[in-house]
Amino acid sequence: MKLEKPNFAAPVDAEKRKAIPPVICYPPETLEQPDLAALVTLRAGANKTAEAIAAPRDAACIDVPAGAFVRVLSVDGPQVGDLNMWNKHDLTERFYSGKTRALHGTHLSTGGRMWSSFPNMRPMATIVDDTLDWYGFDAFGGSVHDVIGTRCDPYTGRLLSGDDYHYCCHSNLTRALAGHCDLPLREAEMLVHDVLNVFMCTGFTRDTGQYFMKASPVRPGDYLEFYAEIDLIVGLSACPGGDCSSEHSSDVAACYPLVMEVYDPGEAARAAHVQPERSAYDRTHGAG
Ligand SMILES: [Zn+2]
Repeated sequence: MKLEKPNFAAPVDAEKRKAIPPVICYPPETLEQPDLAALVTLRAGANKTAEAIAAPRDAACIDVPAGAFVRVLSVDGPQVGDLNMWNKHDLTERFYSGKTRALHGTHLSTGGRMWSSFPNMRPMATIVDDTLDWYGFDAFGGSVHDVIGTRCDPYTGRLLSGDDYHYCCHSNLTRALAGHCDLPLREAEMLVHDVLNVFMCTGFTRDTGQYFMKASPVRPGDYLEFYAEIDLIVGLSACPGGDCSSEHSSDVAACYPLVMEVYDPGEAARAAHVQPERSAYDRTHGAG
């Protein structure tokens, strides 16, 4: 947020300085591109092998082996989901939404990759299908599947309203991961991280730069699908905000379940998958 009335007068060349065109921070041209055509072929021969349901105002976790696909599916009614990903064998390697945003922009779709936290920084998953890709950006600058929000949580709720609400995505994911990995709640909580907001329609207001949400265009049958680059645990919370047309962090909105489905192209195909290497940076950080 900026001051409505600035404290300092604009310099004489203010307009000239403001007119300088932007430069993309991280041009993606040097990134290795996924072979989407090969993944589509692989997907055509895959069979559904597992399913987990995130009940309304609750979350679920599911294992997805490297080389398999996972679909997040809308059922029953418009609903957004907060998605986390962990390396199944090292839960400290997790989805890094901020760096994914820096590399792929504010909202993801087919061909986008979900990058893992330092010091790993490798693609954990590749988005292979998105039935909402037609949405693009709307007149408000909004779009779906953002990596700009964090996750709804009881701490911000407490800060802004003074109330304790226990079914925010942060808490739902904490309970689900604790149950899935048999971890103490407090240990699981520290592993929950900022999310990919699946199906959520968000942006920044043009005049004040404030984070906004609006009713999601998702309808039952819509899905977002990923290819697992490494062995994953995927966590998904059916956000208490429902379709996020009004409010979250409460029991007010109509909420629906979300489904995760695993599609396996077979053991031989998975064995042929080459997992991305962790970053080759030597981690000496200039300390001699
Ligand atoms: Zn949420």
